[in-house]
Amino acid sequence: MENILLKFLKGIHSINHPVSVLKGIGAKRALSLQRRGVHTVIDALFLIPLRYEDRTKIIPIRMAEEGNTLIVKGIVKSSGESFISRRRKIFRIEIDDGTGTLHLAWFNYNKRHMRALSTLKGEILSYGKITNMSGSRYMFHPRLIPPKSWKPCYYPIYPKIEGIPEEVLRNAIRDAVSRFKEDIIDPVPEWIPKEFNLPDLKDTISQLHDPPLSYTLDQLNAMETPFHRRLIFDNLLLFILTSSWLREKRFLTDAPELRSPREVIKMAEEYLPFDLTGDQIKAIKEICSDIKRPYPMNRLLMGDVGCGKTVVCAISAWICALNKRQCAIMVPTQILADQHMEYFSSLPAEMGFRPVLIKGNLNTNEKKRIYSMINKGSYNLVIGTHSLIQEGLHFKDLALVIIDEQHRFGLRQRIDLTLKGKSPHLLVMSATPIPRTLSMTLYGDMDISIIKEFPRGRGVCRTEIVKRSRKRWIYEELICRLKRGEQAFVICPLITDSDGTGLKNVLDMTFQLKRLLEPAYRVGLIHGALSYEEKAEIMDKFKRKKISVLVGTTVLELGVHIPDATVMIVEHPERYGLAQLHQLRGRIGRGAKDSICFLVIPDKLNDKALERLKVLEKSNDGFYIAERDMKLRGPGEFTGAKQWGKTEIDLDLLLRHIDILENSKRIADRIFGSDPWLMKRENVYLRMLLERRLSLISDIDNESVTGYFS
Ligand code: ADP
Ligand code: MG
Repeated sequence: MENILLKFLKGIHSINHPVSVLKGIGAKRALSLQRRGVHTVIDALFLIPLRYEDRTKIIPIRMAEEGNTLIVKGIVKSSGESFISRRRKIFRIEIDDGTGTLHLAWFNYNKRHMRALSTLKGEILSYGKITNMSGSRYMFHPRLIPPKSWKPCYYPIYPKIEGIPEEVLRNAIRDAVSRFKEDIIDPVPEWIPKEFNLPDLKDTISQLHDPPLSYTLDQLNAMETPFHRRLIFDNLLLFILTSSWLREKRFLTDAPELRSPREVIKMAEEYLPFDLTGDQIKAIKEICSDIKRPYPMNRLLMGDVGCGKTVVCAISAWICALNKRQCAIMVPTQILADQHMEYFSSLPAEMGFRPVLIKGNLNTNEKKRIYSMINKGSYNLVIGTHSLIQEGLHFKDLALVIIDEQHRFGLRQRIDLTLKGKSPHLLVMSATPIPRTLSMTLYGDMDISIIKEFPRGRGVCRTEIVKRSRKRWIYEELICRLKRGEQAFVICPLITDSDGTGLKNVLDMTFQLKRLLEPAYRVGLIHGALSYEEKAEIMDKFKRKKISVLVGTTVLELGVHIPDATVMIVEHPERYGLAQLHQLRGRIGRGAKDSICFLVIPDKLNDKALERLKVLEKSNDGFYIAERDMKLRGPGEFTGAKQWGKTEIDLDLLLRHIDILENSKRIADRIFGSDPWLMKRENVYLRMLLERRLSLISDIDNESVTGYFS
């Protein structure tokens, strides 16, 4: 869990002693902890156990059933090494507790470890999983517990920290709890946890590290205890409050007022080869009314792949140009940047765009020249990847920032780009629909426009689930379409067969297809391990129909636009989330022709997985699919979440606790609501916290996004 709460408790707390004050932590170990972000006592207190072990009772050996993980206590009867095959040795200790005997066994051990084990005598406690083998009961690689130190407990297992033995870490944290618990200041006003029957922060922290025996192990490991819930609640509350706070602040920030022509839609349509759809018009009007205000727009434009977001973006940029201001468009990949550049260059000159593309590989001189022209305002539209946020790139008067496929960027990058202007308007676009409850929370500081309607004249896209054994006729259909000059994508999960999982990989697939189709139809290959130039060249060939069938990994996922691509074959669709598959199939059916997406499943696929995939056969509505995905996979596995991964909140966790989400939203609204009493009493304090949190936002170090540009 990315701990927002911790981040700013650190700012206000007195428990900022270095970890080296804790038992067992010297200078060297303190360094190891620091490497993992644990600098102070409060960091240690917020080190959340990954899971717990049930050490609440000792089980008689006779009752220890196979498969259960438990503690037994017995007397050492014998110990020693023995061969289990010609080459393999194990070390074995036999124990007996009067009800039965059990073998504790180790496969991998060094001499020192073995010597230590050999000296064990008398009574020992052992924790592990019971396995039956050739008539005897075993515990492999058990944890031995000194009998004196055992007391019934749920034993917390912390993340492994290199250089610190488990036991040392546990003792240090226990020391932190016992010495510093009373110093914890609860930043949340008392009435809030009370209202939801949640413990205060002191109890939360101490129970986290030493859970009361009244909980079950399942509750603990599912984070379904009041203290886990309290931590999640706090994180969400702060997250939502921050959104509301950002929103309020935004209203007080000055932004360039961009005026749109009175007949903006009519004028725009003059320039376009088609009429806009109702939803596009609605979105454009919403944007126009946002950007004429004296404070910055912060709008999310959500709509399925192919619904026509680009043109909405183009019209917004055009209005910006009419106002003689600069606009920047940031996209996650160079291929998309090229595509946008091509699109804007193709628009009628009267629209007044002077676009420039920032390429990643510019040499110093080109860079200097382009940067200086941007700085002088010679270009009014700047398109690029994260290269736009480079130092040294300054705008003359950046008034509108547009971010495409926004979930590929972190908050940090979003902020960095807007900092290139004086509070410019912000439009972010996303093709990953998420359920409404979530979007309202995660994007509480944004207004949302949704495009559901697809442009008319679009062919129908059908999806069909086909068993691998019946794949033959897919190829018949494929060849039939290739004959008509249509094109196809083939998606496999792996690049090579390196991991021996037997999953389809693009190399084998390309080889197979080449044998089947060439020389009549060319087969191309694209994947993430290729350089940008190689990828661009292949995409270009595909676009110019020099390649008919393109095999690839999900690199293809992003908004590539090939109107004649009408067939998609997805191998191992069961490996992907519905939202992702839905995005993938959005690559086809972008023209007037009907298209077809084949999901090739193993002959034996379980019912649950099949039911899930069937959603795609039935529906083309991204929002519906996102909701179903969440229901069918169980929120914890909802894979739309992964695609929204660049948020600060652990979505999996959040989705498992949707009720907490709703409660925190309610409280946050109440705090920011109209109740004057609340405003006076609590808000002063909360505002202080929020201010601190905001100052922390810029420190949020989003994991490097460069992975996405490879
Ligand atoms: P996305 O929302 O995935 O970014 P695009 O903006 O790339 O979708 O649009 C997909 C295709 O639809 C483009 O070829 C675009 O020209 C076309 N298009 C967009 N709006 C309309 C419309 N109103 N009528 C007809 N075609 C449209
Ligand atoms: Mg797009």
